[in-house]
Amino acid sequence: MTNPLDSSLQLAERTGAHARVATLVGRTDVSPSLVQVTLEGDVEALAGRPGQDVMILVDEGRPSLRRRYSVRRVDPAAGTMDLWIQSTHNGPGAAWAREADLGSRVDVVGPRGKIFLDPLADWHLFVGHISALGAFYSLAESIETPGRALFVVETEDPADAVTTSFSDELGVTGVFVDRAGRSANDPAGLLAALASLELPADEGHAYVFAEFHATRVVRSALLDRGLAESAISHKAYFRVGLANRDQGEPLKDE
Ligand SMILES: Cc1cc2nc3c(=O)[nH]c(=O)nc-3n(C[C@H](O)[C@H](O)[C@H](O)COP(=O)(O)OP(=O)(O)OC[C@H]3O[C@@H](n4cnc5c(N)ncnc54)[C@H](O)[C@@H]3O)c2cc1C
Repeated sequence: MTNPLDSSLQLAERTGAHARVATLVGRTDVSPSLVQVTLEGDVEALAGRPGQDVMILVDEGRPSLRRRYSVRRVDPAAGTMDLWIQSTHNGPGAAWAREADLGSRVDVVGPRGKIFLDPLADWHLFVGHISALGAFYSLAESIETPGRALFVVETEDPADAVTTSFSDELGVTGVFVDRAGRSANDPAGLLAALASLELPADEGHAYVFAEFHATRVVRSALLDRGLAESAISHKAYFRVGLANRDQGEPLKDE
């Protein structure tokens, strides 16, 4: 039996999470941009609640370099969790998702993240980058029915518009926006789609997970639409032109 690295144990202690060694047991393409990676292990300790993520050591030679991936789904009976990872750019995380050997050990720290579904919201609006599709679907699947989910998600490739099935009692509105060659830090497509989306009149909550700059601009547009600050949860997943820091977050300073 393999033990987690000391750095994982220390990180877990600092963050109130767990450190475990999992095994990479599956990899399938979800779409041209997204690969589903399946980990087997103590997933009930690691995965947390819908919307949370795990930190993965993606390069054994660099034990301080971790990347964060939202949990798409957990199968407690099988002891597995799926992650949906964008793997079309050049980075150690993307390379790990594409190339790590099936059967290899994976140092995982989790659960991480503080964004959960707002239990009081009448409707939930998920806006952002294709790399957040797994988090969006996981959160939406946890909406208590009857309820309402609205999605505005930008795709790299039209075939990234992957749908999933929800309870019949959940009202779903989905808009996939083709990036059409724009950079991920250009929010024009997301803003245009949002502007054409009618938001329900009752109380809602928005979840914005996207590129650093796009996240800021979309949040500001939602404030302009009348959403309260407390009704918007936002998280930058990456930043165009800059690798995420070793602990998995994009740099925040301009
Ligand atoms: C809380 C949290 C949850 C996340 N969940 C997910 C998830 O479920 N699925 C997922 O795919 N990503 C997720 N991310 C984003 C992922 O952790 C980062 O994209 C990560 O930095 C990728 O690492 P990398 O080593 O491949 O690239 P890095 O070394 O970070 O970056 C290398 C280069 O690639 C660019 N780049 C990084 N990510 C992307 C991208 N997605 N698309 C295009 N260019 C990119 C960077 O701008 C940089 O130029 C999450 C991030 C956070 C903070």
